[in-house]
This record gives sequence, structure tokens and C-alpha cells, in this order.
Amino acid sequence: MFNGNYELNSEAFKVVEEIGRNMPGGFFIYKAAPPEELLYANQEVYNIFGCRDLEEFKTLTGFNFRGMVHPEDYAEILNSIENQIERNDDNFDHVEYRIIRKDGAVRWVDDYGHFSQTKTHGGVYYVFISDITEKKAQLDAQIQRTEEENKRLIEQIESAAKLADLLGSVSSLLTNMPAMSFSKDAETGKYLACNQSFAEYAHKKHPREVVGLTDFEIFDKKTAEKFVADDKMALSMDKPYIFFEDVPDAGGKILRNLQTTKMKFTDTNGKICCLGMCVDVTEMTRIKSAEAEARIKQQELEEKIALQEKLLEQSETLKEALKDAEEASRAKTQFLSNMSHEIRTPITAILGMNELIRRESTDENIIKYSNNIDKAGTSLLGIINDILDFSKIEAGRMELVSAKYSIRELITDLVNLIRFRLEDKGLILKLNIDSRLPTVLFGDELRLKQIITNLLTNAAKYTEKGTVELSFQVTKKIDDMVYISVAVKDTGIGIRPEEMDKLFSAFDRLDVIRTRGIEGTGLGLAISARMLDLMNSKLKVVSEYERGSEFSFVVGQKIIDAGEIGNFDPLTNSGTEKREGESHLSFTAPNARVLIVDDTELNLQVVVGLLKRTQIKIDTAKSGRECLELFGADDYDMIFLDYRMPGMDGIETLKKLYELYPEKAHKTPMICLTASAVSGDREKMLSAGFDDYLSKPVNIAKMEGMMIKYLPEEKVTLAEPAPTPKSENLSGLPEGIFKLKEIDPDTGVDYCGGVEDYMDAVAVFSMSIAQKSADIEKACHEKDLRTFINLVHSLKSTSRLIGATGISDIAFTLEQAGKNDDIEYMEKVTPELLTRYRKLQVPLEEIVDEWDENH
Ligand code: ADP
Repeated sequence: MFNGNYELNSEAFKVVEEIGRNMPGGFFIYKAAPPEELLYANQEVYNIFGCRDLEEFKTLTGFNFRGMVHPEDYAEILNSIENQIERNDDNFDHVEYRIIRKDGAVRWVDDYGHFSQTKTHGGVYYVFISDITEKKAQLDAQIQRTEEENKRLIEQIESAAKLADLLGSVSSLLTNMPAMSFSKDAETGKYLACNQSFAEYAHKKHPREVVGLTDFEIFDKKTAEKFVADDKMALSMDKPYIFFEDVPDAGGKILRNLQTTKMKFTDTNGKICCLGMCVDVTEMTRIKSAEAEARIKQQELEEKIALQEKLLEQSETLKEALKDAEEASRAKTQFLSNMSHEIRTPITAILGMNELIRRESTDENIIKYSNNIDKAGTSLLGIINDILDFSKIEAGRMELVSAKYSIRELITDLVNLIRFRLEDKGLILKLNIDSRLPTVLFGDELRLKQIITNLLTNAAKYTEKGTVELSFQVTKKIDDMVYISVAVKDTGIGIRPEEMDKLFSAFDRLDVIRTRGIEGTGLGLAISARMLDLMNSKLKVVSEYERGSEFSFVVGQKIIDAGEIGNFDPLTNSGTEKREGESHLSFTAPNARVLIVDDTELNLQVVVGLLKRTQIKIDTAKSGRECLELFGADDYDMIFLDYRMPGMDGIETLKKLYELYPEKAHKTPMICLTASAVSGDREKMLSAGFDDYLSKPVNIAKMEGMMIKYLPEEKVTLAEPAPTPKSENLSGLPEGIFKLKEIDPDTGVDYCGGVEDYMDAVAVFSMSIAQKSADIEKACHEKDLRTFINLVHSLKSTSRLIGATGISDIAFTLEQAGKNDDIEYMEKVTPELLTRYRKLQVPLEEIVDEWDENH
């Protein structure tokens, strides 16, 4: 419209204003030269910028073009405008840019400008402007949509290209890969292509020969059917279908493993194909199975190790349990040992006191009660000793004390110990003693006796009728050793085979119903077996239930005197051999002075009481300290020193004695009193300087024996036969009775309870000798066993009553023989009995007469 060069004068402006006012849209004119000052702008321009009038518009924009354009867009449009003006002859340009309205809103405008040269203002732009914000937003959305569409299209194109690439590679893969590969028409099942390996697999020379054939034309029917089925499976799936097949290799011999993958595929022509690829996995399978095997082996190994570890753990636990059990057992043993020890002391005191009562009382009732106390107390002491022995063995503190001993004495003691018990039960004691036994041996006689006594006591306890046989047999002699087989055989209740293994376990008693009434702790055999262990021997048992048992062992003992014992009958020998130490060799020593040291007052009282008859002067001390004082002040012939004392113990006291009074101490025999519960006592005491050792509870006979041994000879007066308090009571008896070898009036008076009763018994006995002996003879002759048994049974008691023990013993064996139908023995021994029995008649009648005369 303003074309060409013209003068923009006031006239022209009026026209412009007029047009501007009436035209739709915004119109403004600005000078091209900076600062691009506006020459004119119509109301619509103000409106576009959100201004009401020229004033507001001028404030917002500075009334120049630069002030109208968004600062970020200015440089660009300036460039664009100049370029456009330069390029076209019409001097038109078109730009779009953002403006910032007065209210701050950013709006898009488009701007159609026309450049003119004027004489008055130089280059000016006439510009038509309109707000295109809404229109532009629509356009932008449209553009975005288009762009997205394009992008999608591009992606499709790209993926199509990729697919093409893939297809290209698949087909090149097919032909080039080392594995067998092929493709088949899904519809017809005909081969479309394959590689050389597959062709060979199909027994063809070239892939071409395979193309167009079906599986049925290539493979055998079974294989073909399988392939067709696999194809079908692959075509029905979206992912590859993988399967394994075992096939013969080209040579047809070795089995190969193939892993075949088939998958659906659409080729470029839209044809659905089945693509296949087979890989030879023989080697891999072999490795895998080897691996699996190794894994299994490994697993087995691991399991084994785990098992071993578990076992180890279990054995550790067991070991701990064992340790605990051992600990508990040790504690138990210790407890038993302590308890027994503690109980033993008062029992000993009770027994000792009781012994004093027996000796000093003349009241028959009191003596009877006292005898009962003695019996019960002794039995209790026996049990306690058993427990103590057992706990000592368990604690490993039992030790053998060997010394020389006489085998005759040992056997005699054993026989004496058991014979009356057997007799009371009506049992026969049979002896089977080897005459080749050496007379003096070396060993622990006490323990040996304890073991055999236990076997004999058991035989007596568990046998109702029949015999108990004790045998000592020499099995062999090597150098200075003799091996003796000791056996105790009974005809008792026997042991059930199933209970045999409980026999030697402590506190176990068998056949509880039958043994209920029989006294026992179940310790005896356990102790015996363990003691024999210490002697390197073993207790053997042969038993038949309800028929009897035999307990035996073989023990090696050193020979001291090899002289043989010969034919030795302890039954007739009994009581004739008295033993040193245990003998009741009586003595008095009124000039001797003895000091006894014990912290228990009761023990001192008992010992002093029991030694009264020796008339020894006894001093007592209750502690080591007191002992030192007394010893310092006086001279003693002997000292008994207790080991276990509070404060200074026995050894300490002894040391002090030697220290303080060396000369006196060396001269004086020192005897240690100690409970044998403490291990190694004997050795310990002797090496500590004691002269001898006496175990507690003190056996008074042993103590007296030791006194005879250690007191100065000149101070001791031995008296034999012993004037015991009992024999004092014999004083009223006729002299003649003491001259009879067959009779021991002491025993008789003891049995009868007094001299008068005794003489009554002797009178009755002597009167019946003639008749009774004739009856016995007759019964034996006629083999009238019942009468015979009754007669000898009664003789056994009556002869015992008057102290004719030898006759009583023979009567006993005859009674047993009668019970066992042992006619031979009866006939052999009865004459001997009758001779000895009848020999008594005359002297006894004289004695009775004498007595009668005096009373
Ligand atoms: P106890 O003090 O009970 O006699 P032992 O240890 O001496 O203890 O004996 C254990 C058990 O063995 C006895 O309780 C008894 O049941 C059985 N026994 C031992 N000796 C014989 C035997 N000679 N005949 C039958 N049973 C016996």
C-alpha cells in the first residue's frame, strides 16, 4: 500500500491514522535505524500489548520496536527481517515472535512488515501485527502430532530394516553356521533350504538335493513322524521349541546327542516357515553328565563329611556326658567314702562301749542285750566296710598290702568263719585242699580272705540244702610263683543266665523275689571282682538256675616256704593254730607306760577300757599339742598317734616330737592310728617315721599284739592260758574238767551262760553217752538215716554246749553226710566219733560226782 519513496508528512500521517483506526488488526510504523523509534501505532497495537492507551503503551515499550519484542526473540527476528528484505524485491518480510504484555503474559504475534525509504525519516517499516497465540498453539499441537506420527513411522521403518537385517543374517546363518540348519514350509512340510551339514545328516551330497523334499522322503518313517510332530509343536508356540534327540552319527555307530531348536518364522513373502537348527551336544552332554556325577559324588562326600562331623559332635557330646558321669560317679564315691568313714567312727565307739558293758556286767539280761547290740553293730560295720571298700576301689584308692602268710592259717580261718553258719542251716561243708600247696606265701592275705569269705557267705546265704564246697588247688608252679585255683561251689538257688551280667555290678541283687529275705547289699561280688582285678585275676561263675553255682578264680602268689602242707584238715585243726597279732595272748604290763593320742574322747575311753586288763598305765591326749606336752614331761614306752586330727595332724606331731625331743623320740616306738580310707596310708606313715601302723577302728586284739611286739620285753608278762574275765568265772569248776583235751569248759560256760548251768549240762551229757552212742552205732549199722541224722544232730548241739567242739564238728559232718545219703562217709567217720564220745563217759561221770559232792 505505501509503495515507493514518499514523504511521510503530516498530511500523509493523517491518512495513515485514518486507515489505521479503521482497519482490523494492529498497525504500526517505526524507523529502521536504531533505536527503531515508533512513528505510529494504532489502538489495536495497544490492545495486543494489554495497554489501554498510548501512554501505557509508551511506558511498556519505550515506544520503539525493540521494546516491543521479547528480548530472547529480538536478535533472531532482526536477522530474519534484514535477510528477507535483502532477498526479495518487494521489501516484504514476515516474522513471528513473542511479546510480553503489560500484565506479564507472553503472547505470540505475527508480523508482516514492509520497508520504505522516506525523505523525512529515512528507512521505515510499516508493520501489520496480530496476536496469533491461540492459533499458534493449535498449530504446534498439530505439528507435534505430525512429528509423533513421523517418529512412529520412522521407528517402524527402522524396525522393518532391522528385521530385514535379521532375516538377512538368519539366512546367512543358515548357510554358514557349523550346526545343521534348515527351513521348511509350514504348510507343505517341504524343505525350503538347508546347509551342508544338514544335507549330510539327511544322507545327501548337496543342500539342493534336500530342497523340496519332505521328512517322509528323507528319513525313515519313525524319525519322519517325530520330526513332523516336532514341527507342529514349534509352529504352535511363540517361543523357540527345544528338544533333544539321540542319533547315530555318520558312521551309524556311535550315538550322538543333538539339541534341536525349532521356531516359527514368516519369510519376506509372508510364507510361514519352520526354522530348525541342530547342535551336536554329545561332548557337552558327556561333560555335563560327568559334572553331574562329580556333583553327586561331591554331594555324597559332603554328606559323609557332615555325617562324620555329626558323629564327631555326638562323640564329643558323649565324651562330655561321660566326663560328667565320671565326675558324678567320683562325687558319689567320695560321698560314700566320707559317709562310711563318718559312720564307722561312732559305730566303733558303740561297739567298744558295748564290749566294756559285756565285760563288766554280770547281769545276764544286760549281757544278752549287749550281745544283740554287738551282733547288729558288727553287721552294720560290715556293711559300712563294704561300702568303704567299694568306694575306695571305685576311686582307685584301693591298694594291696602284701606280706607273708601261712596258707594253713588262711584256710583254717575261712573254715572257722563259715562252718557254724553252714551248720546252723544244716549245710555240709566239703573241703578239697591240695596237699601240694606251699606252706608260706607272699600276698595280700587279708583281701584274699575277704574275697573268699564273701563267696562262702554267699554260698551259705543262697543255699537252702546240700553242700558248700571250698577248694584250693594248685594249677601250676613257675619259679617262685604258685598259681592257686580257689573255688566255692554250692547246691543253692543258682543264677538265671539272663541275670549273669548284673552279677558284678554294684548294688544289684538278683532274683529279687527269692533273695528278698536274705541280708545283703549287692556289693560283695562287685568288691570281690574288683579286688581280683587288682590281683590280676578274674572271678568266674558257672551257675545253673535252681541247681547251684560255682565261683572261682586263679591267683598267683609268691612262694616263701615251698614246703607242702600235706594232708591237712582244717575241720579238726580248727582253733588249734592261733595267730600272731590277732591272738588273745593275754599279757599284763603294769610297769609299762603308753600314750594314746586321739581327738575323739569316746575312742580314748573305749581303748582305755578295753586295755584295762593289761594293767598298763595309759595316758591320753586329745591333740598333737597335748601330746607334745605330755611326751616332754614324761617317759613313755610306746605311743599310739592318731593321724587325722584337727590342728596338728599325726605326721606333723611326729615331726615335732623328733624335733623337740630327738633322743627320746628315737627310742620310743610310735604307732600311727589311721583310717584305711586314705590311699597309700601305710607307705606314707612308715616313710613319715612311724614304726608301725594300726588301722582304725582299732581292733583291740591287734593293738595288744602290737604292744607285745613293741613294749620292752622285761615289762611284759605273758599269761597262757589267758586269765580272761570269763575264765575267772570258771574258778568253781572241778579241776578234772580242765584236764580233758576234748572239752573246752570256757566255751561251754560261755554257751551255758554260767558255771552251774554248765555243770548241769555236763551231767545230762555224761549220763546219756552210753545209750546215745549205742543208738548212733545201731542207726549207722542199719543205715537208718532218719534216726541217725536226728541222733547226730542232737549230739552236735549237746557236745557243743559242754564245749566238746571237736565231737560237735564231727557230728555235724555226719549229719550232713546222712542228709546226703553219704553212707560211705558215715561208716568211715562214725567209729571215730563214737570212740571220742565214749572216752568222755568215765571222766565226766567222775567230774559230775565231784561237783555234786561239793554242791
Ligand atoms: P549280696 O550282699 O546281695 O549277697 P553280692 O554282690 O555278694 O551281694 O551278690 C550279688 C547278688 O548275686 C546276690 O544278691 C544274689 O542275688 C546273687 N548271688 C551271689 N552269690 C550267689 C550264689 N552263690 N548263688 C545264687 N545267687 C548268688
